[in-house]
Formats: sequence, C-alpha cells, structure tokens
Amino acid sequence: MIKVGITGGIGSGKSTVARIFEVLDIPVYHADDEAKWLIANDKSLKIEIIKLLGEEAYINGEYNRSYVSLKVFNDSDLLQRLNSLVHPAVAMHFENWVKSKTTPYIIKEAAIVKSKSGIDHLIYVHASSEKRVERTLKRDNFRTREAVLKIIESQQTEDDFRALADFVIDNESDLLIPQVLEIHKKFISF
Ligand code: ATP
Repeated sequence: MIKVGITGGIGSGKSTVARIFEVLDIPVYHADDEAKWLIANDKSLKIEIIKLLGEEAYINGEYNRSYVSLKVFNDSDLLQRLNSLVHPAVAMHFENWVKSKTTPYIIKEAAIVKSKSGIDHLIYVHASSEKRVERTLKRDNFRTREAVLKIIESQQTEDDFRALADFVIDNESDLLIPQVLEIHKKFISF
C-alpha cells in the first residue's frame, strides 16, 4: 500500500485537493481531525495528557482546549512534550486505518509534516500568502487578516515544504483537477 501525504499551509487548499482524491475513491485520512478525536476519546492518551498537564486538561471527561492552549501557549517545551504524546498515538491509529484499505494507495492529509516518516510520497499544495489569506478569510469569517498572517508566520516556510515534497500542486489558479488526475494516474500505475 502506497501512503501519500498532502500538506501545505493554512488555506492552501489541502482539504480541497483531498476531496478530489476522495471523489476518485481514494481513502483519505484527515490527521488533524483524527488527532482531535484521539485527544477527546483515546483512554491511554487521555491518561498521559492528564499526567503531563494536570486533571484540568479534561472537565467531566471532555477535553479542556482553552486550559491546554493557555498552558502550552508560551511554553514550547511543554508543547513539544504534548506533541510527543499525540503524534505517536495518531501514527499508530493511522497504521491501523491503513490496514483496512485495499486501494492501490491512500492519502494522509496533515497541516504539519516535519519529516516523511510513515509516508512514501508527499504532495505539497502551494498558493501565495495573499491568496491563502483571501481564501481563509472568505471561508472563516471569525478570523482577521492579522490572525491569519500570524498563523502563516508560525507555520513551516515554503522552502521547508518544498524541500520535503515529491509533488507540488499549484493552487494559485483554479486548475486543480488536472493536477490531481496526473498524480492519481502515477500512483495507480505503480
Ligand atoms: P486549512 O489548513 O485552514 O484547513 P486547507 O489547506 O485545507 O486549509 P481549504 O480549506 O481546502 O484549505 O481551502 C481554503 C479555502 O479556499 C476553502 O474555502 C476552499 O473552498 C477555497 N479554495 C481552495 N482552492 C481554491 C481554488 N482553487 N479556487 C477557489 N477557492 C479555493
């Protein structure tokens, strides 16, 4: 089974590209959504998070996101330790998910990809910062331009993304489908 990652910064079009693969009947693992689900529901992960951040990390069993965000906001060491609990849990969940799939390849969509461990090929979805701000503001009316720019600054740089990527999808224009089809053809003929 070939494992293909999709990554890119905020508003680059990862989910849109992932949806096109889904239309082609390729299963897509949404790593960020699954991480949220595991944090809220996985018993052993919850125990580890409570050990790290204290009982207040959950209220009546429900994840206390605002408490956790506040705690890790200015403490990069704590954030890293939290990530080192969540990432292996997601990786294991992903590996089990993959086992049930029978297609020639699967897609894993994730906003943060620091290395290619666990995936065979990586697709980077690219659009300019200006385009990403414009599309994100149109999609999420609760965000401000400044807040989106701040997120862009905090994410991997374009050079970082390109250094890891095997394929780049240009999402500045609206011609996504032919680019996805070209990649799809490659993976079904491997
Ligand atoms: P995030 O990291 O914030 O989850 P994302 O990378 O998954 O974002 P999408 O949600 O796919 O990005 O795209 C951001 C917004 O831009 C969406 O509203 C989407 O419909 C729109 N969009 C994506 N690609 C295009 C395009 N080529 N033309 C017009 N709008 C687009």
